[in-house]
Amino acid sequence: MLNKKSVDDINVKGKRVLVRCDFNVPLADGKITDENRLIAALPTIKKLIADGGKVILCSHLGKPKGEAVPSLSLAPVAARLTELLGQEVKFAADDNVVGENAKAAVAAMADGDVVLLENTRYRKEETKNEDAFSEDLASLCDVFVNDAFGTAHRAHCSNVGVTKFVDTCVVGYLMQKEIDFLGNAVENPERPFVAILGGSKVSSKISVINNLLDKVDTLIIGGGMCFTFAKAQGFKIGKSLVEEDYLDYAKEMLEKAKTKGVNLLLPVDTIAAKEFSNDAEFRIVEGDLADDEMGLDIGPKTQDLYVEALKDAKTVVWNGPMGVFEMANFAGGTIAVAKELANIDAVTIIGGGDSAAAVNILGFGDKMTHISTGGGASLEFLEGKELPGVAAANDR
Ligand code: AMP
Repeated sequence: MLNKKSVDDINVKGKRVLVRCDFNVPLADGKITDENRLIAALPTIKKLIADGGKVILCSHLGKPKGEAVPSLSLAPVAARLTELLGQEVKFAADDNVVGENAKAAVAAMADGDVVLLENTRYRKEETKNEDAFSEDLASLCDVFVNDAFGTAHRAHCSNVGVTKFVDTCVVGYLMQKEIDFLGNAVENPERPFVAILGGSKVSSKISVINNLLDKVDTLIIGGGMCFTFAKAQGFKIGKSLVEEDYLDYAKEMLEKAKTKGVNLLLPVDTIAAKEFSNDAEFRIVEGDLADDEMGLDIGPKTQDLYVEALKDAKTVVWNGPMGVFEMANFAGGTIAVAKELANIDAVTIIGGGDSAAAVNILGFGDKMTHISTGGGASLEFLEGKELPGVAAANDR
């Protein structure tokens, strides 16, 4: 369980509360195209309003790289939050984020009011975690709440630096929920505990594989990364994705699984095509691929094998699709896994990023126990790392 103070442990009545949220939402023509992150932030914001705090929200959006970029303004987020909360969220338009306008907006707040600051990455200090901006942010508030799990793996001014200059620093409900789910799953899982890893690269998930092999009963590997393992085992993989530098590592992990008694499952067949295209002809291949073929999804036998391995699972953590799920012809493996997770009586936790998108697009989102809002952050968590954004909050 998370041993950090949360919004339940403090009294914010009449206090200025700066809340670091993750409002990094996709925008198209100034319109928010996916508001999951806004919805996920509401419980903490509502709680602070109800407790009579002066609620000052902040977040980054995209990568303006230290400059005011109008298309990355948080103004549309303020408008949508106003609707979602049913009360005005005043937008403190300010190219300097904490300039005269923001200071005036905060000075004018009554208890229970909400103000949203401009994109924190308009300031060049933000991603460098430099004191000048951290102090500016701290000057606006009496209490700091970090509810931005999606950036918890980064040490920036608005989630880490600011805590140097504010005495009371706690986590919000979203952060707490993410860490309780991910933490419990990894540290205290009901068994059998199965992890499913997919996606394009072994290199981005090395430490996750290594850490999870110490914890799980079964590790299922699919996606582009399985071809590095297949090559390491001596199979011909044609033009499939491969990371030559990681062949030895793959061998090491196969050995580690044996030593630890972990059931490591790799594909026994693959759907292969000659082009990386949904229009390409494809065939099911067991064993070696031809030189001009690439594997783009797990095959039907592998689907059965993986589904079978999930049947009795009591805890499942999933990160990374089983194939190129964006193309209908190569989405079958990812769909089969998502369907089985939706069916089984287990705690099912989906890492953020592509696997979260896949589960939602395929319509299984509401069948999962928890879908993380942070891709990079959830991966680092599964690596067993301490996240700087969490570490910076006060201990209980
Ligand atoms: P990652 O960001 O590493 O989790 O990778 C996600 C991406 O991996 C998705 O865009 C998938 O299309 C891609 N992917 C999954 N399986 C394969 C494969 N067999 N070959 C190429 N790309 C793949």
